[in-house]
Amino acid sequence: MIDFARTLVLSLLMGTAFGALAQSPATSLPPVRFLLTFDDGPSLWTDSPTVTIRQQLAHNPVMPGVKALFFVQAVHKNHGGSDAGQRLMQEACAEGHVLGLHSGSPRGHIPHPQFTPAELAESLVVGNAAIAQQCPGTVQFVRPPDWVYNDTTLAAYQAAGLEMLQADISVNDGKIYGWTVSMRRRSHIHAGLEKVAQARRAGLLPEVDGAFPVIVALHDTNRYTAEHMTEYLQILVEESADLGLPLASQPFYTDAQSLARAGHVRAQKQLYVCAGKALSAPMLVRLGLAAGDPYKGCFVQN
Ligand SMILES: [Zn+2]
Repeated sequence: MIDFARTLVLSLLMGTAFGALAQSPATSLPPVRFLLTFDDGPSLWTDSPTVTIRQQLAHNPVMPGVKALFFVQAVHKNHGGSDAGQRLMQEACAEGHVLGLHSGSPRGHIPHPQFTPAELAESLVVGNAAIAQQCPGTVQFVRPPDWVYNDTTLAAYQAAGLEMLQADISVNDGKIYGWTVSMRRRSHIHAGLEKVAQARRAGLLPEVDGAFPVIVALHDTNRYTAEHMTEYLQILVEESADLGLPLASQPFYTDAQSLARAGHVRAQKQLYVCAGKALSAPMLVRLGLAAGDPYKGCFVQN
């Protein structure tokens, strides 16, 4: 009995001590701020999902005036390589959003490792110039198609003055899966935020301007995303609260400069929160059917 009582007291004490250890650094750590990114646009669908998204970022009940980073297909004829696409890039820039490069090839959304070095280098120059024409200033960021990269493409980005930016959380809207997207998105985002909370507690996330920037990947070519953008903002904030993950008083970025600063720091580290395998890992690598590290760029292998 005495042994039992001693064990109980000890375990309670240890529990308190571990609890204090686990909690005190976490509560003194900076809060999270979401850096929203959109791939594949600008979208020329007649219902203008890119515009619908920008309108909701500007006017919503969660936090008006959200600024985002749009990774564009700068010269493809169905995107930035058209008059309408150029207008959309110009508008996004004028509204204070940041434009980054997704693809600078007229051939479109082709994984960069498939290009010859010469074609990749040219596409980066041409793509940057096409963006700069609509949005004066230097293009700082690239997110490669399918998020796939290797040492050769990284060197090409560096030579073009671009920093690669992957993401911590994907809302999985890159392909149109129909109803499953809407049914599963809340639990999927919750699972991603849980990993973010773990990385925060472990002190893995770099701090920028008093917050931990957490990069969220969406697609402005997805009509579902466009119709539900405000809900995505709500889900990110609500699920963070549910997890006890503290958010900054402004949970999203509101100006291009601080967004770019956050992106720069994250790009320097090139490490991301992975809820499972790396977003950039090709499908065959994920499945173990091709050589490669499925956890490349992940803070921790989970
Ligand atoms: Zn893409």
